[in-house]
Amino acid sequence: MNDTVEPLCLRCGAEMIAGPRGGAAQNWYCTDRANCRQGFNLTIRGGDLLFRQDIGEVDDERFEMYNTGL
Ligand SMILES: [Zn+2]
Repeated sequence: MNDTVEPLCLRCGAEMIAGPRGGAAQNWYCTDRANCRQGFNLTIRGGDLLFRQDIGEVDDERFEMYNTGL
């Protein structure tokens, strides 16, 4: 099963970075820090988005904590 799909921001379409995972769900943070800053809690299974929760704007401290791959 492929759970490694990296979703694009559901608000602006930019790439997102992976935040903390809790069970089947994982937080994702939009990389467009100038205009969007949106965070999502997503459950993705087999490439399908099963659950979506908007978690609001992600502050800089939290974003940088998970911003390792850019
Ligand atoms: Zn965005």
